[in-house]
Amino acid sequence: MATTSARPVKMPKKDLERFRRLLMEKKASLSADLAKTRSAEEETGDEATQDIADKAVSSYTREFLYSLSDNDRNTLLLIDQALGRIDDGSYGHCQNCGVTMNEKRLNAVPWAPHCVDCQELAEKGLLEG
Ligand SMILES: [Zn+2]
Repeated sequence: MATTSARPVKMPKKDLERFRRLLMEKKASLSADLAKTRSAEEETGDEATQDIADKAVSSYTREFLYSLSDNDRNTLLLIDQALGRIDDGSYGHCQNCGVTMNEKRLNAVPWAPHCVDCQELAEKGLLEG
C-alpha cells in the first residue's frame, strides 16, 4: 500500500552529510556523558561507611543518574537509526507517514524519526512500532 505516486524526494547529498556530521557530534558528546555518568555511579556505590541519611541521598542520586542515562541511551539509539537512514537514503522522511520532514525540525532534533504530527501521536501512545 505504501507504493503510491507520492515519490519521496531525496535529500541533497550535502545536506545528508551535514546531518551526518551533526549526528556524529551529538553521538560523541552523549557517549562522553554516559561514560561520566558511569564513573559517577561507581563513586556513589563505592562508599563503604554511610549512615541512613547518606544512603537515602545516594540512592536518590543513583536513580537520577539511571533515568538520565536511560534518556541518553534512547537518544543514542535514535541517532544510530538516523545514521542508518542516511545510509539507506530514507533520512529526512517521517518513519510513520513518509512525509518530508521540516528542515527546522531536523536542525533542532536531527535524530527525530517522526514528523511533528506523528510525534504527537507517538507521545500519546497512538502510534504502533
Ligand atoms: Zn508523520
